[in-house]
Amino acid sequence: MKHRGPRTPDRASGAAGGTTSAQARNATADRAALPVTALRGVGAALAGRLARLNVASIGDLLFLLPLRYEDRTHTTALGALLPGTRAAVEGEISLSEVAFRGRRQLLCRISDGSGFLTLRFFHFSASQQQSLGRGTWLRCYGEVRRSRLGLEMVHPEYRRIAAGGSATTAHGPATDTASPAADAPEALTPIYPLTEGVPQGRLRALVQQALQELARSGLPDLLPAAALPAQAPPLMQALRYLHQPPREADLTELAAGRHPAQRRLAFEELLAHQITLRLRKRALKSDPAWALTDGARMQTRFLASLPFSLTRAQARALGEVDRDLAAAVPMVRLIQGDVGCGKTVIAAAAAARAAGSGLQAVLMAPTELLAEQHWRNFRDWLQPLGETVALLSGSLPARTRRSAMEALAAGEVRVAVGTHALFQEGIEFQRLALVIVDEQHRFGVQQRLQLTRKGQQAGRLPHQLIMTATPIPRTLAMTAYADLDVSVIDELPPGRTPVQTVVAPESRRAEVVQRIVQACRDGRQAYWVCPLIDESDEVLAAAAQDTASALAAALPGLTVGLVHGRMPAAAKEQAMLGFKGGRIQVLVATTVIEVGVDVPNATLMVIENAERMGLAQLHQLRGRVGRGAAVSTCVLLYRAPLSPLARERLRVIRESSDGFEIARRDLALRGPGELLGTRQTGLAQLRVADLVRDADLLPGVQHTAEVLLARAPDTIAALAARWIGAGEQYGRIG
Ligand code: ADP
Ligand code: MG
Repeated sequence: MKHRGPRTPDRASGAAGGTTSAQARNATADRAALPVTALRGVGAALAGRLARLNVASIGDLLFLLPLRYEDRTHTTALGALLPGTRAAVEGEISLSEVAFRGRRQLLCRISDGSGFLTLRFFHFSASQQQSLGRGTWLRCYGEVRRSRLGLEMVHPEYRRIAAGGSATTAHGPATDTASPAADAPEALTPIYPLTEGVPQGRLRALVQQALQELARSGLPDLLPAAALPAQAPPLMQALRYLHQPPREADLTELAAGRHPAQRRLAFEELLAHQITLRLRKRALKSDPAWALTDGARMQTRFLASLPFSLTRAQARALGEVDRDLAAAVPMVRLIQGDVGCGKTVIAAAAAARAAGSGLQAVLMAPTELLAEQHWRNFRDWLQPLGETVALLSGSLPARTRRSAMEALAAGEVRVAVGTHALFQEGIEFQRLALVIVDEQHRFGVQQRLQLTRKGQQAGRLPHQLIMTATPIPRTLAMTAYADLDVSVIDELPPGRTPVQTVVAPESRRAEVVQRIVQACRDGRQAYWVCPLIDESDEVLAAAAQDTASALAAALPGLTVGLVHGRMPAAAKEQAMLGFKGGRIQVLVATTVIEVGVDVPNATLMVIENAERMGLAQLHQLRGRVGRGAAVSTCVLLYRAPLSPLARERLRVIRESSDGFEIARRDLALRGPGELLGTRQTGLAQLRVADLVRDADLLPGVQHTAEVLLARAPDTIAALAARWIGAGEQYGRIG
């Protein structure tokens, strides 16, 4: 059954008799906006599969861009074929037979005078078999493999050609009906992202059909040429080029994504994302918030009670936070700062301002461990000022938790710390004015939105303060976090000694154990982080348990503690407190200790299987030591052999201790997707643009976004619809 928009047939026929150019433009827009089912041979089932590729309309097909290209325009002599390569070949069928080698199959041998090649088909129709008789000439494309019969191609794409000459009939394998145009030897062959049930050839044919449909009218260029990167072709020209690059196209340039046509589209895509994020921020800021002016005194008292004064960078960040909090517009501010730069104290100062204004603040952490640690800090800092701090942890006895929740709902308690998971359940506040999220790389945009919505009371949105220890370079931050204001803490508190980082093979484990003995003899403490295996929590917990037992046996006289994700909270807290209080000397842990844990007397960190961890994670883990005045060491144990990527990562982490620098290197090594986290931003789904490769486009993107936001609402809507799609507008607010 076909689904058509109810209005479209009218509009389309109106266009056919088209008179004015405005009408023609409308018809164009409508043509592109028609559902794919308006194309020949596309029914509801295929449309459903295409939807998985974010293709709903005919126009969307043009924005489904090839992942890569194959040059099928040059043929390789059969005698020169190499196994493991993909090649286009031509030859005459010298033998064609149906064989039974375990399975019924059609074998054709082709030759061109220089050599032979076997074509093997497991699925074939009778007519196909008939058309592949002796003496027929074929042009084939496929992967060359070695077999017992010499070199072969299994299910190559092929067509019949005149003896030794050019193509006559297009003929794909039964599952891959290639379109003649796409396979025309004068163009490179595009390879599209696939989804189940839509073969490559079918997709190619559909894109060709869409190109033809829109050939006359094209798609509107939404951007003025002046805004675009240099040498950018018009939109339709760029799209046509990328779907059918001419045979002389520079494949290396295309593969690198540096062709002007690609940059044209990348610019527009980045712009669409930028605009969407900024609109989100604008929408958020259009609601009122509490102006936290009364709390300034409580904040001053809090700062005066600290045993240290803020660093310049901390003071600057807090100044930015304070300015936001004093306004009746919701703050949405991200604090970026390296591990150990002192973000918690800024969070507490903001909370003090909220409490001092008679309103409520909540801090959320990704793990219970961290929530408990923050709670202890907040309690120690704010209790002397007369503020009770509630802990909301999933593992607390139900009664304790309930009474904390009641106190918050009644407004008797103004500051709460808890895990994000818990917050998602029904916690009520009396007047919530500030939501603080720690280590936001663990939270997604959607989750943050949920929180904001939850905090909305009497039409007011809470201020949001987000703290991340995964700093990213400035231009990238302005792109990825365009929905946030960003403060940077680029300075560590004084008196820190850089951590010495040592990389050692697993075989030197015994030596490492001796280092622990030495450190503990000096009154210090050590962390031992257990292998990160891609396994369940249970397996991880068991591995940590084994390591703890082994270390306890190897370290008589020392107390070895254990912390992992599956332990009851009370046991975890006991271990953490024991470690913090110095009763436990060696803490064996899974990567649950990755974020935030603060024990300044710990000076040795051993990380097992460090080769499996990402740079950001290694840097976070290492940040657990080097928090006091004593020299600290981080030993990265690896299991040989190292992959080139792992080797490079370990080199970077050994050479640098600057989180911003490490983030830059991480970006170069892995790309932004992993660094930012796939859930975190829609940027993970970029189709053409690449945040690292196209970084030079970002300033222009930002500028153009500002211009369009100020004066072109229609363009903005069209851009968002074209690139972002209806389903993933980064969520909506309220
Ligand atoms: P992070 O930014 O990684 O969350 P924390 O907030 O845990 O860092 O701070 C790390 C340590 O530095 C804590 O023990 C904290 O009390 C201390 N600290 C924070 N600010 C300062 C400062 N200005 N001077 C000295 N120590 C500080
Ligand atoms: Mg922290």
